[in-house]
Amino acid sequence: MVVLHLFRVEGCWDQLERGASLLFYGGHACDSPSLVCIKLDVAGKAAHEQTMTDRLVTSDKRDLDAAEASLRPQSLDAFIGQEQARANLRVFIQAARDRCEALDHVLFAGPPGLGKTTLAQILAKELGVGFRATSGPVISKAGDLAALLTNLEERDVLFIDEIHRLNPAVEEILYPALEDFQLDLIIGEGPAARSVRIDLAKFTLVGATTRLGLLTTPLRDRFGIPIRLNFYTVAELELVVTRGARVLGAAIGDDGAHEIARRARGTPRIAGRLLRRVRDFAAVADVPIIEAELADKALAALEVDNEGLDALDRRYLTCIAKTHDGGPVGIETIAAALSEPRDALEELVEPYLLQQGFISRTPRGRIATLKAYRHMGLSGPPRLSTPQGALFEGDASDDAEPGDGESQAGMG
Ligand code: ADP
Repeated sequence: MVVLHLFRVEGCWDQLERGASLLFYGGHACDSPSLVCIKLDVAGKAAHEQTMTDRLVTSDKRDLDAAEASLRPQSLDAFIGQEQARANLRVFIQAARDRCEALDHVLFAGPPGLGKTTLAQILAKELGVGFRATSGPVISKAGDLAALLTNLEERDVLFIDEIHRLNPAVEEILYPALEDFQLDLIIGEGPAARSVRIDLAKFTLVGATTRLGLLTTPLRDRFGIPIRLNFYTVAELELVVTRGARVLGAAIGDDGAHEIARRARGTPRIAGRLLRRVRDFAAVADVPIIEAELADKALAALEVDNEGLDALDRRYLTCIAKTHDGGPVGIETIAAALSEPRDALEELVEPYLLQQGFISRTPRGRIATLKAYRHMGLSGPPRLSTPQGALFEGDASDDAEPGDGESQAGMG
C-alpha cells in the first residue's frame, strides 16, 4: 500500500506530489481542505480515506467558510435557540446601556460552531459600541496585547477567541487590565528597567473557549458573566436551516429542513455547511425546492449518515468496536491508530459521540456502547457477552477519565 498526499492547487485537487502511478482525483472542491490522503493498492486503485481536514461535518472554523459570515444573525432576536443565555444577556445589555457603563466581561464556553463569535458581535451591536476581534494564540507578546488594549475606546468590546490558548505572560498583564482598567508594563531591561502604568478605556472583554477546563482559575474568575452554550435541538436547527435558506435565496420544504437539521450534530455551523452543499446538489439536479428526498440523497453522497456521523466518526467507532473489542481503549491509542491529533478528536469528534451515547468515557479509556454497535451494524459488544465483561461494565460506565474535565466542559 502506497500513501500519497495530494495538495490543493487553486481550488482543484489536481496535483500529485509523487507521480509514480498517475492518479487523477478530480474536480473542484470549493469547501474542501488542503490535504487529502489517497491510498493506492497494488492495482493502482484509489481509496479515499477521510481525515480530520476533509470533514464536512466538523464544527471547527475554516477559511473557506467565509460564506458563513452572510448567515450570521445580526441581533439577539434573530439569534435562534440558547433561550436562557439570550434572556440573561438582554437584561445585562439593557442595564449597561441604561447606566452608560461598559458591560461586565463575558465568557462564552462550548463546542465550536454554536455561536460564540456571533453572540460577541451581537453584543457589540446591541450595546452600540465598537468591536475588535482577535484570538488567544495570535497575541504572543505583552506588547501585542498592550497595542490592542490602548486602541480601545470607552465601552468597546474586545473579543478574544480561544482564550484558553493565551500565553501565560500575556495573561498576567491582562488581569489588572480587566479589573482596574490599567496596564502595568516593564520598559527596558536590567537595572534601567522601569515599570509604567497606563490607564485604559473601560472596555468589555468577551472571551470564547471550547475548553473551559484549560482556562486558569484567576482568568475564569475575572469574567462577571460566564455563559455556557449547549448543542441545539433539531427543532432549533430547522429554524437555523430555514433562515439560512432564506438568506441564500434557496427554496426549502419543512421536511428538507428537518432532514438537514437532524444530521447537523446539534451545531448551527454544520447545519449551514450542509445546507450549502445540499443547495449545490439541488442546483445541479435542477430541483427547485429542497425536499427531504433530495437532502437525504445529497447527504448520503457526502457520507453523512442519518445520525449525522461521517466517515471519520465511523472510523473512530470501528477502531474501538472492532480493533479493540469495544474498549476500554485510551485516547492516545485511538489517535495513533487513526493518525489524528488527540486534541482534535477530543474537541471535534468525541463531544457529539458522547452526547449521543455512542461512546462513554471511563478511567481506563473509551468504550463503544451498544448504540454504537447497533448503528454500525455490528454484533456485540464482546465485553457484555462474558460474565467478567458484565462485571467490569458497571464500574466503567460512570466515572470520568482523570484530567478529562476540560473536554467534558466543552460539551453541552
Ligand atoms: P463559534 O464562534 O461558537 O465557533 P460562530 O459564532 O462562528 O460559532 O457560528 C458559526 C456559524 O453558525 C455562524 O456563521 C452562524 O451563521 C451560525 N450560527 C451560530 N449560532 C446561530 C444561531 N443561534 N442562529 C443562527 N445561526 C447561528
